[in-house]
Amino acid sequence: MKKISLLGSTGSIGTQTLEVIASHPDKFSLEAISIGRNIDLGLMQINTYKPKLVSVQFKEDYDKLASVIPSGVRLVYGQEGLEEVAANTDADILVNAVLGSVGLAPTLSAIKAGKTIAIANKETLVTAGHIVTEEARKYQVDLLPVDSEHSAIFQCLQGERVEEVDKLILTASGGSFRHLERSELATVTVEDALNHPNWSMGAKITIDSATMMNKGLEVIEAHWLFQMPYEKIDVLLHHESIIHSMVEFIDGSVIAQLGTPDMKVPIQYALTYPKRLELHGKKRLNLWEIGTLHFAKPSFERYRCLDLAYLAGRSGGILPTVLNAANEEAVSLFLSGRISFLQIEEAIEEALNEYENISSPSLELIQHMDRQTREFVRNVMVN
Ligand code: MG
Repeated sequence: MKKISLLGSTGSIGTQTLEVIASHPDKFSLEAISIGRNIDLGLMQINTYKPKLVSVQFKEDYDKLASVIPSGVRLVYGQEGLEEVAANTDADILVNAVLGSVGLAPTLSAIKAGKTIAIANKETLVTAGHIVTEEARKYQVDLLPVDSEHSAIFQCLQGERVEEVDKLILTASGGSFRHLERSELATVTVEDALNHPNWSMGAKITIDSATMMNKGLEVIEAHWLFQMPYEKIDVLLHHESIIHSMVEFIDGSVIAQLGTPDMKVPIQYALTYPKRLELHGKKRLNLWEIGTLHFAKPSFERYRCLDLAYLAGRSGGILPTVLNAANEEAVSLFLSGRISFLQIEEAIEEALNEYENISSPSLELIQHMDRQTREFVRNVMVN
């Protein structure tokens, strides 16, 4: 029986993680969850899945929930609550599915507590990859990818030697505006952007897919997870999202992982690794049904955010933190209708130009620059 703690239970990855846990009650048990602001869904999850410990983001939600949750469930809140769920339970595995850089500190606490980390929160690796991977080595804990591309690469690498890898090839659907020319992007709306062709995901990541910043963050994530230099990480447009990523080896062999798009596959693989379990209700891949798969090279002019992410990744230091914080803030401004779609990349570029780089930043500096960059983007873009 694997015991699981889950950060971000009401999000898209969170709800699917709970479904995976519930589908194998003899294999998994749920120790603790953290909830953001979706208290109604959170309460439903508490009643259905009965975790021992629950953390909510805000005190006012804590007060609301305190009187209605079943007895025996311990309730906590805030950043401290998040840390409790991450590190202070009997769980073997922490699934980190919170959104944004708020996932960083609890991940580090969980590593110190010896928990295996199933990481869906890519911002953690983007902003502090050097610290997280170093700590994982030091405390000898596994960092298991939940992101579908990284899970694909991880699966392709089983039994292989990293020294014999020539290239990681991350596939990208191209997002909801892939059929549009760059000039047509100026007037797209939030509703247009949220309509993703292949994957059902949260709002932030759907916008990130449309700008391709999602793939840019994934390039940085892959750099840290697989300790691969940036010149060995490629991005390939692949509209059908059937090939989830590939690894090319020094002898020219390419190993790919395929399947119908379904986040439960990488979630469950992280929970069962190194074994596999049947995935109930999974739509199987019939290539004859699909017939044709399409591929194209992404243009850095068309997808400016991808270019900026490579730039920040290669430069290293504090710039990936600036990139990520500027993007989070800009996407939130776009979602609330205060800036246009193309202003997202503009905001990120301005932020990257604003700050001198600092190498090997500490956790404190990362958190400081994260806050400062968000403030900078708000001031520059909304006046
Ligand atoms: Mg992904």
